[in-house]
Amino acid sequence: MTAEQPALPTGATIGILGGGQLGRMLALAAARLGLKCHIYAPAGDNPAFDVAAAHTEGAWSDAVALARFAACCDVVTYEFENVPHATIAAIEHACPAFPPGRALETAQDRLAEKRFLNALGIATAPFAVAATADQLAVEAARIGFAGILKTRRLGYDGKGQAPIASAANLGAAWAAMGGKNLIYEGFVAFAREVSMVAARGRDGRMAAYDIGENVHRAGILATTTVPATIAPATAAAARAMTLAILKALDYVGVIGVEFFVVEEAGSERLVVNEFAPRVHNSGHWTIDACACSQFEQHIRAVAGWPLGNPSRHCDAVMENLIGSDIEGWQARPPAPGECLHIYGKAKARPGRKMGHVTRLGACP
Ligand code: AMP
Repeated sequence: MTAEQPALPTGATIGILGGGQLGRMLALAAARLGLKCHIYAPAGDNPAFDVAAAHTEGAWSDAVALARFAACCDVVTYEFENVPHATIAAIEHACPAFPPGRALETAQDRLAEKRFLNALGIATAPFAVAATADQLAVEAARIGFAGILKTRRLGYDGKGQAPIASAANLGAAWAAMGGKNLIYEGFVAFAREVSMVAARGRDGRMAAYDIGENVHRAGILATTTVPATIAPATAAAARAMTLAILKALDYVGVIGVEFFVVEEAGSERLVVNEFAPRVHNSGHWTIDACACSQFEQHIRAVAGWPLGNPSRHCDAVMENLIGSDIEGWQARPPAPGECLHIYGKAKARPGRKMGHVTRLGACP
């Protein structure tokens, strides 16, 4: 599908690779617009299946099931960025797929991602490839301590990371991380973490939501607060960087860009931590605080529809309900302005995102 091809008509089918809560909220948004979703996900607890017109349970490597799925879809998108490259290639061969494969490939590899960002003139943490224990020792000494040793691929929610306080920690961290495909990152002494969720349509138009301020606990997003406590010039810089990333990738769909805000000599400087080529947990507040949520925006983009208005009609604080946080909500009367979202996952485990609650505040 290209910009020249017509927008999807209502009743068309959007395929979604991945069956988690992001797929669930995408399918709900699509249904509201009269579009159907077909979810493809490996066996497991797939809460998106409950709200989609169709689903296929299949492995990422099942070429026959993937071909059958692609044949049922008018366009395919992703709710999970670690879909294997071969799966993406198989889908793109049969059906238009957004965001573009290059965006996923870049985001899947921390090294490629940082090089891509630096080539755009966007600052990242200082980093180096650590292919051997000796190389790690040399590069860590060059970059300095403290630092973080990370897997290049398949890290999320703080998984696949080891903090390094000094050279004395390097050997144990190297061994604990399996000793291959690692990068060393200098620790960024940030004042706060913020993120921007934005979209680019098939026509190249872009729309950015207000920047959110994020608090993580144990490496997992705990809350997002909008507005963030940053200077207007910092928010404008985040927006410019996010739009530059979207353009450079010839992107279609929603992206989430995570920033560290560093305070230096009374001013703020932004460092990009990473970007996610999909709807983002820090954008869940848009469901209740914007006329067009990040989920509707993504569906609009991949369907070739005009993007919606990303402006916020009120302040918001989104709190993730993780593990046992989910207990008891069915018996609790909602407080004024409290919007509850339960993902319908079968079992609550520590660290598992089970739902979220958005508390709406004043109108700006
Ligand atoms: P990541 O999985 O890379 O998004 O990292 C998860 C969290 O770890 C981030 O949201 C930060 O709180 C922290 N973190 C990751 N990399 C760095 C870094 N280079 N410097 C400081 N904190 C970091």
